[in-house]
Amino acid sequence: MKRSHLIYALLLLGVLGLVALAIFRGTHRPELYTYSRILMGTVVEITLKEDRPGPADAAFTEMARLEALFTTYRDDSELSRINAMAPEQVRVSPEVAELTGLALKICRLTEGAFDPTVGPLLKLWDFVGTGNVPTKEELEGVRRLVGCRYVELERDAMTVRLARKGVRLDLGGIAKGYIVGKAMEVLKKRGIGWAIMNAGGDVTFYSSDPSERFRVGIRHPDRAEGLVGTLVVGSGSVATSGDYERYFIKDGVRYHHILDPRTGMPAGGLRSVTVFSRKAYLSDALATALFVMGREKGLELVEAMEGVEAVMVDEDGSIHTTSGLEGAFRPVED
Ligand code: ADP
Ligand code: MG
Repeated sequence: MKRSHLIYALLLLGVLGLVALAIFRGTHRPELYTYSRILMGTVVEITLKEDRPGPADAAFTEMARLEALFTTYRDDSELSRINAMAPEQVRVSPEVAELTGLALKICRLTEGAFDPTVGPLLKLWDFVGTGNVPTKEELEGVRRLVGCRYVELERDAMTVRLARKGVRLDLGGIAKGYIVGKAMEVLKKRGIGWAIMNAGGDVTFYSSDPSERFRVGIRHPDRAEGLVGTLVVGSGSVATSGDYERYFIKDGVRYHHILDPRTGMPAGGLRSVTVFSRKAYLSDALATALFVMGREKGLELVEAMEGVEAVMVDEDGSIHTTSGLEGAFRPVED
């Protein structure tokens, strides 16, 4: 064999070896099947260990059904009807009664840091449009419309009444988690024993094996591809609220979509809050609430809650976690 041929043959062998290794490795990794749909204004992905589009479809259908109840982007949703009818009492479906009850509970738990009536404030800021910085007078003007005491829920009769005309019930800070949680229930009922759902970065995972651990990356506030660290946790849900999710810049100042209900201004102090808990709605709502509460008060609240953990990225880039995450959170070295 000529020398050049020999080199060629060796190279080819090398490549074949790599290909064989890749195939060999591939067969040893369980196959994952991902199904995706655009829902709740984001891409929702369901990943299973089995090729079963049926259960995934059923889960997406449930999500779409619930989204249609809770959206405030459409006039014909139940939420929009409650808002339009204020101060009349409105009969609602069991899910709207349930989620309203959960939102009110979290509003009280967080002393109003999470407030499902921030709607009139959000409207002034126009985050979904081009963005607008309201004047002090404008913010003051809607103050009398913000507060969860204005939401009257009768769980048994399944009615909701907003005490004043102009009060708006907006479940945007909790509905995504709630909907994903319900969709996970659908998968379980269909016999799925292992699933991951990713709804625009909020991740919910389930394994019938209680010893199974999932690794979840926490995004860097300034670099979409970068991580601040990873969490290794059992079945549950990880949600993040960050100042980089939805914002606009006016005169060099960045205004983001998580408002401090007490001031009507974007909450300051933190860049992002990530919460792990067993319940997707709880992780979702607490991430928003803790962002508003700030580092000290926020960490104090979740330290006292069983099974709830948090990772916070401070304005100066420093990372703070609850004590329960010892060993479960690994920061990425810069
Ligand atoms: P995303 O929906 O982008 O994942 P979050 O879960 O952090 O983000 O929720 C932010 C949404 O919650 C806002 O777009 C708004 O609808 C609503 N919101 C903003 N501030 C508050 C607040 N203090 N309490 C409850 N909901 C809020
Ligand atoms: Mg949230």
